[in-house]
Amino acid sequence: MPFVAKDKTTGNRIDITKLEKPRLMLRADACICQLCEKPMIIKAGLHRRAHFAHHKGECVSEYERDPDTNPESPQHLAAKDWLRVMLPKQYVEYRDATLEFEVPIIEVRRVVDLLAVFRTGHRVAHEVQLSPITPEVLQQRTDDYEQAGIDVVWWLGKSAKSEPNQDWCLQTFGLVFLIDHEQIYKTIHDQSHG
Ligand SMILES: [Zn+2]
Repeated sequence: MPFVAKDKTTGNRIDITKLEKPRLMLRADACICQLCEKPMIIKAGLHRRAHFAHHKGECVSEYERDPDTNPESPQHLAAKDWLRVMLPKQYVEYRDATLEFEVPIIEVRRVVDLLAVFRTGHRVAHEVQLSPITPEVLQQRTDDYEQAGIDVVWWLGKSAKSEPNQDWCLQTFGLVFLIDHEQIYKTIHDQSHG
């Protein structure tokens, strides 16, 4: 359930969150997966955020994906959406950054949940992790991104919010970022009634 698809003809990225009426603006046969290039459909859009989905649910790309993103849970999608709104509000330096969902990083065969690109060229990957993971895997993915010249911020929620993972964040970065789903749902609710 990604936010981003590829235009079959032009190859351009299509971020569905930037389109007010995606079903009126995108041709049904124009949207393909940016990773495996299979056709995608538009889902939801009445009350929930519109997003893309594969015809048969699964992406068949060779990119490494975790259970959060294949297929992506609604909570994961909501957390990414919340991050993009929250980051520029809470952190001044992000007001000047471009924030893009689901950016493939070819060198390390990974897809960044939300990539911040600063005008100076610095890149920071914001990763939402909800499914179980170990500190070793967090370290491995962090190393992968660093190898590609990208800094990482981990946002831990649900099963990933374990004590060992929080300890690892504290030791590695000096602080822990947690996803609070109650807060996210409250924000989304307020927005839809605002
Ligand atoms: Zn795919």
